[in-house]
Amino acid sequence: MKTITSSKPVEEVMGYLEKCCKVYIIGCGTCATMCHTGGKSEVLGMKKKLEGSGKKVTGWMIVPTACDELTKYALDEEAERIKEADCVLAMTCAVGVQTISLHMKDSKPVYPALNTMFIACLLAWRTARGTSPRCVCSVAVACSGGRRPSARWSAAPRAC
Ligand code: SF4
Repeated sequence: MKTITSSKPVEEVMGYLEKCCKVYIIGCGTCATMCHTGGKSEVLGMKKKLEGSGKKVTGWMIVPTACDELTKYALDEEAERIKEADCVLAMTCAVGVQTISLHMKDSKPVYPALNTMFIACLLAWRTARGTSPRCVCSVAVACSGGRRPSARWSAAPRAC
């Protein structure tokens, strides 16, 4: 089971960061990497965008599983570079944003760069985005209030 995320529009992210000249970026090595929303290449892409808009990126890291308690140790290791930043940009799902906020040593805002959509079977998600829509996890449907998350899911959903 994975948390499916999508990237927020860059204008929305820039809006959050309006008052931040210096930013530290955190990605997630699990679901967000698998969704191509918060892995290494997306974090580096975001770094480039922020630097292109005149912001300083004090550092970045990909936490193996941002919602895990071990995230506090990763934050400790990067404490100096995080301290230098005005805020943190989390390229994780909402649970990751909360976990990072919880373990931050100083009171610094943690802004989300991703939208958290639903929990799903990754095979189903990949299948639905790809060529043969034949497997849809019932949890994905349940988490969207009984509605299918997108029109792509309307093709013969079946439990995994
Ligand atoms: S923080 Fe969110 S995206 Fe990262 S592993 Fe946990 S549930 Fe998945």
